[in-house]
Amino acid sequence: MSDLQACDVLIAGAGPAGLLLARLLAQGGVSVLVVDPLWDLRHGAFSSAALPLEAVRHFQLPEQVQAAHWQGWELHGPGEEPYRWFAEQSLGAVLDFGELRHWLAAQAQAAGARLQLGWAVRQWQASGCGASASLRGPGGVEQIQHCRWLVDATGQRRALLGDPPAAAGSLVSGEGVEWLLQVPTPQWQRWAHRLSFMLGSSWVPQGYGWVFPMQCGQLKLGVCRLHDGRRSQPPLHQLLRGLQQRLELEGATVLDRHGGLIRSTIRRREPHQRGVLLGLGDAVSTGNLLGGEGIRHAMASSEVLAPLLLEALAGRPGRLRRYAPRLKRRLGWRWSLSGRLARRTWLGLHSPAGDQRLERLLVGLQQNRSAEELSALLFDYRFERYGLKALPYLLGWR
Ligand SMILES: Cc1cc2nc3c(=O)[nH]c(=O)nc-3n(C[C@H](O)[C@H](O)[C@H](O)COP(=O)(O)OP(=O)(O)OC[C@H]3O[C@@H](n4cnc5c(N)ncnc54)[C@H](O)[C@@H]3O)c2cc1C
Repeated sequence: MSDLQACDVLIAGAGPAGLLLARLLAQGGVSVLVVDPLWDLRHGAFSSAALPLEAVRHFQLPEQVQAAHWQGWELHGPGEEPYRWFAEQSLGAVLDFGELRHWLAAQAQAAGARLQLGWAVRQWQASGCGASASLRGPGGVEQIQHCRWLVDATGQRRALLGDPPAAAGSLVSGEGVEWLLQVPTPQWQRWAHRLSFMLGSSWVPQGYGWVFPMQCGQLKLGVCRLHDGRRSQPPLHQLLRGLQQRLELEGATVLDRHGGLIRSTIRRREPHQRGVLLGLGDAVSTGNLLGGEGIRHAMASSEVLAPLLLEALAGRPGRLRRYAPRLKRRLGWRWSLSGRLARRTWLGLHSPAGDQRLERLLVGLQQNRSAEELSALLFDYRFERYGLKALPYLLGWR
């Protein structure tokens, strides 16, 4: 066991949330340490990382982390023909998730944060006016780190906070598997400039499949579905292979296989703070289950927490009581509604009746909506454009 070390804020987890918080705090003159068991943040890039343009601009993400741009949607439903929508201009980017983490880490370090890779926070306890955390590093070596505030930014694992209490509502969980494929340029062009989704029970019961473009010659092929303890669900790899076959992507070289969970409570009522421990990003359910996306929401939680934590460090710890309500406001009422819709929509997609509802929805969207409006629906959760009364029918609530 090495000597006791000290910092103002210890952040467990070098995901988008932990790294952005580290940068913002370091810019505020705070001593910050980020630890993560990953040795190389470019590795273990589990996320598909599709983002709308607004988020790319808001977080000032540079070109080097944007593997491809997209300006349209291609939705394959239960029927034969896909539906397509295209805008004149870019609507967003597919990020290289490893590059994003690498860039965020460089930014945080340039601002003065320290990064300790290959280390995990194992446990912690309150000590004096802060916390003592036990870290485990290479070869099982242990280190005790003292800090005034400790942040759980370990994503859906919630390694320090643990799962939410029953009163906060159960965790809804989705699991995704994705392959990074190398394909010839003409085949890549077929899928370029758009986000393509495969919807309906014949593609992925209770979930969806996707093809996203990366840099020229590379595609991400994935499947994701919500967990339903009342049904037996086919293995995700089997569904992925089925997708690969139907989309004629069998000849492609698989460069990387990855995947992971996304787990959130629908109402986000879990405690965001326990003493000097604070939760950030997916660890406090910022991951959205409708589109299986959460990078921008996780980073939003860092922007909300940073100024409050700086005030707490300046002697006003009571300010942190504002964290959970401010984050709720920042995510907006549509966030919770979209979570409820996600549960109903995806879990209901396992039968011909569910497929018929979906086909009707796709036909309606094709007739009345532009690519921009589809983005507003799927990324801004602007369901009210459909009339809130019609919505439950549209998305299968009734
Ligand atoms: C298959 C899949 C596809 C997805 N696609 C998209 C998408 O297209 N768009 C989108 O916006 N989002 C997508 N997401 C969700 C998105 O990746 C997450 O919402 C986002 O990464 C959450 O960021 P975070 O910083 O909260 O946590 P994470 O990115 O999960 O980071 C947590 C970090 O904590 C580290 N850690 C774990 N345990 C410890 C410990 N004990 N001590 C220290 N560190 C620890 C981990 O190594 C990890 O680096 C997808 C997720 C999955 C699984």
